[in-house]
Amino acid sequence: MTDSTTARPAPPAGPPAVAADAPVVLQPRPDLVICEECDAVHQRVPLQPGQTAHCRRCRALLGRGHRVSLPGLLALAIAGLLCFVIGNLTPLVWISVRGAPDPVTLPEALWQTWEAGQPLGAMLAGATAVVFPFLVIALRLYLLWPMSRRRLPQGFMPAMRLLRFATRWSMVEVFMLGALVAVVRAAGLASVVPGPALFAYGVLTMLLTSSSAAGLHRLWQLGSEWQAEQNREAATR
Ligand SMILES: [Zn+2]
Repeated sequence: MTDSTTARPAPPAGPPAVAADAPVVLQPRPDLVICEECDAVHQRVPLQPGQTAHCRRCRALLGRGHRVSLPGLLALAIAGLLCFVIGNLTPLVWISVRGAPDPVTLPEALWQTWEAGQPLGAMLAGATAVVFPFLVIALRLYLLWPMSRRRLPQGFMPAMRLLRFATRWSMVEVFMLGALVAVVRAAGLASVVPGPALFAYGVLTMLLTSSSAAGLHRLWQLGSEWQAEQNREAATR
């Protein structure tokens, strides 16, 4: 059973003293976390593996302690890349109407959908099943490779923001459901045999879901601490 904790609300801070006509430059506060549901600001606290932090005002989930270590998350990302490559280079299905079975890969299926006069469907499927999942895997590798060696990657903040955006648009599980429904429906019209790509995308769905279930709380916390250390070292030089 998962333990639960409530994050402490942030202590009130007075407004910075600036001239009335001077532009206000806000300072980043990596020690704080904002609730996405109600905008309440809380003090960031370290979370134990399996522990969750909830907003004190609306009880929304703020963060989750990783059960998997950083090298473990890196291993999940590498396995995800392997499944992604297999899923795009090997046949998704073998279809035979009359005669020899015809292998169809995912890029071929998207191209045939485009050619059949469904460019919007092809673009949406391509974005949610190929482009964004690849972006999620590539960004996770980019961040986790140096971080598992206790090094802060270049452009940590923009990479984390892009990862968050790409994760929202990566919908491998929706593609899997659609592909399975299509295979079952097509089985009545032609002989359809599932290919290795379909199984690879099934594994990829589980890998991406378990990676995103861990959340980004710990990566944000570690990255922010290391960035603050770097800034302090730069200031003392
Ligand atoms: Zn809230």
